[in-house]
Amino acid sequence: MPIILQVVIFPSDNEYLNYLSYSDYLPPIGTDLERLKPGIRLKVPFGKTNKEKISLLIAIKQETSVPPEKLKAALEILDSYPLFSSDHFELIRWASQYYHYSINNVVSAVFPSPIKKGDSITNQAIIKWKITASHVNLPIEYLPNITPLQLNILRLLKEYPQGLTKKTILSQFSTAQRTLTVLQTKGWIIPVEQNLPDKPIIINPSLQLNSAQQAVVTQVCQRLTQFYPCLLDGITGSGKTEVYLQIIQQVLLEGKQALVLVPEINLTLQMLERFQQRFVDDIVVLHSNINKPERLQAWLAARDGHARVIIGTRSAVWTPLQNLGIFIVDEEHDLSYKQQDNFRYSARDIALVRAQRAKVPIILGSATPSLDSLYHAYQGRYQHFTLPERAGTAVHPTFHLVNMRQQSAHRYLSQQLQSEIETCLTKKQQILLFINRRGYAPTLICFNCGWVAQCIQCDSNLTYHAAVQQLLCHHCGYRVKVYTQCPHCQHTKLHLMGQGTERIEDELKHYFPQARVLRIDSDSTRKRKSMESILTQIHQGNVDILVGTQMLAKGHHFPNVTLVGILNADSGLFNIDFRASEHMAQLLIQVAGRAGRAELSGKVVVQTYFPQHPLLESLINQNYAAFAQRALEERQQTNFPPFTRLALLRARAKNMENAMEFLHKAKLSAQQLDTTDIQLWGPVQAPMEKREGWYRAQLLLQSNQRNKLHLFLTRWLPQLKGTPKDTRWSLDIDPQSLL
Ligand code: ADP
Ligand code: ZN
Ligand code: ZN
Repeated sequence: MPIILQVVIFPSDNEYLNYLSYSDYLPPIGTDLERLKPGIRLKVPFGKTNKEKISLLIAIKQETSVPPEKLKAALEILDSYPLFSSDHFELIRWASQYYHYSINNVVSAVFPSPIKKGDSITNQAIIKWKITASHVNLPIEYLPNITPLQLNILRLLKEYPQGLTKKTILSQFSTAQRTLTVLQTKGWIIPVEQNLPDKPIIINPSLQLNSAQQAVVTQVCQRLTQFYPCLLDGITGSGKTEVYLQIIQQVLLEGKQALVLVPEINLTLQMLERFQQRFVDDIVVLHSNINKPERLQAWLAARDGHARVIIGTRSAVWTPLQNLGIFIVDEEHDLSYKQQDNFRYSARDIALVRAQRAKVPIILGSATPSLDSLYHAYQGRYQHFTLPERAGTAVHPTFHLVNMRQQSAHRYLSQQLQSEIETCLTKKQQILLFINRRGYAPTLICFNCGWVAQCIQCDSNLTYHAAVQQLLCHHCGYRVKVYTQCPHCQHTKLHLMGQGTERIEDELKHYFPQARVLRIDSDSTRKRKSMESILTQIHQGNVDILVGTQMLAKGHHFPNVTLVGILNADSGLFNIDFRASEHMAQLLIQVAGRAGRAELSGKVVVQTYFPQHPLLESLINQNYAAFAQRALEERQQTNFPPFTRLALLRARAKNMENAMEFLHKAKLSAQQLDTTDIQLWGPVQAPMEKREGWYRAQLLLQSNQRNKLHLFLTRWLPQLKGTPKDTRWSLDIDPQSLL
């Protein structure tokens, strides 16, 4: 009987292995077969050129459909132990089936790159410094020749007899590195290798919960060993994070781990700080801005149970965990949980599936829950918890709509907003102005002939960026020097229309010359750590007016901000995408939530050209729940999610005919199959027809029944093989946008 190794090959970066799935190999020549366990990595020769690739061993079997003369031997075994449990692989397999992506593309998204590249991994034990037994009861002040720094370190360690990591000590005394060695030579402290079981948990005092918070903590803590999906629907500042902390505390006391997802890297830092204040260490962070070795260590620490709390962005949902106790998805409505390229998965949905498989609770938290989650909560599929009041002493901000039609033209700041800013400045309080576009102005137009500056690669206008004096495409990065003359009619009367953060910054400087204005968008925060220093400046009160994009909308606390201005509330109202109004409402409420979080009450001024729009009215005059109710009714009438299920087949080619032709053929082949309960819409050209030089088209599939849709896709997709060379396609299950 031959021994056949079934493996999954890791695609290299940016390589997309659409049709490949499992591959079979013989064991490396002369291998001790004992060493072959599913879950280890193997180096294998791949393709005609026998290029060396890294692969994962999935199964050991006796048969293969590969003819003997084509069967190659693997080259080398890379691991002594499996990288993950079989459960974890089952999850990966499930995701590959649900999203209809090849298993190769899924593993590529799931593992940290050092693992995919075949780097060897060593598990580093956690080292902690402790006071030696012979010194623990000595009055340290009387130790001979002790320096103040040495004394401080010893005092700290005395408070933590179970020891502290070097990192924690350095976070208190940044110059302690060498002193630790000195103290060790003196025999006063020792480094000890720490294993989780005997590692005590350090938990700092928590806040006294209000009754709404307490109800959530109690309910969830009674169900720590079952799948208990909850929607924590709590207004900004209502104390959701405190609820997470107290539930996690209970999970940790039971010896289990917690995985916390946040939408953005900037927010992990803020979350990390609050978690560290509570749980001291035991926390690791996983996101793409951490250097690779550190990320791998964090991944391993999570897998091996050395880290008890894992905080991360989207891809952290794939972290293998030794003893999972709970999932938290903060700001669950956020779009960044959905990966929009390569493997298009939703981290929120994966977290739900993981929680269900592991039989643990999951908390989806938000001040503005997605309509999908709200619907599930209304249907009773999720436990619906609400925190209607702000925690502590802060109160709700008040909303004021300003009708921009009554303003003089060419004004971006209404008179009302301007006078509110004035008042706020005299009171020495901070102001936040939100506009969802970076740059100076989104349109450069010739008033003589109507020419508009457009991207050569995309079906989109170029945005003028004053700081660099260039026109930039926000979709592909194309840039050119700004025109001074119309390239079409040579006229020099070019105009900048519309507003971006830079223009508002300019306007503010003009109207309020004494005010300190700070702009926050992806241009001003590009450098590493610049967001941190911006946040510090804001908190120290070195800023009067903040102007920013949605970067400002999310999660941050600005206790001294009492006025929020939303400069163009309308972008979501008439957008063709079925989720546009939902996203607009979420953004508005999130931005508004930044105001008056501490003792000072807040005011929100919303500028709009459509003050009578029903969705905007229900949002402003009532609340998010009223808006959601209305929006859900609309979705039901139009038969869109969450009332139906969608899959979007996207195609792109170097010309539109080819993209459309591919989709027409795909539709024809679909119609040969059983399409009961499946609706096919299109194909149509994508709303943004051309992007990065590709022409785009799409075919929408819709069904009332998820199972039928998936069954259909399983039969249909294999027929799309043999796509013409210049055409690419991708499938998006549960698309977040049809753009
Ligand atoms: P959210 O995550 O819902 O925005 P947070 O948990 O950040 O809310 O809480 C907002 C503020 O209220 C924080 O400063 C927090 O310390 C405080 N807070 C939360 N819960 C309580 C409580 N029970 N008593 C007093 N203050 C609280
Ligand atoms: Zn012109
Ligand atoms: Zn472009």
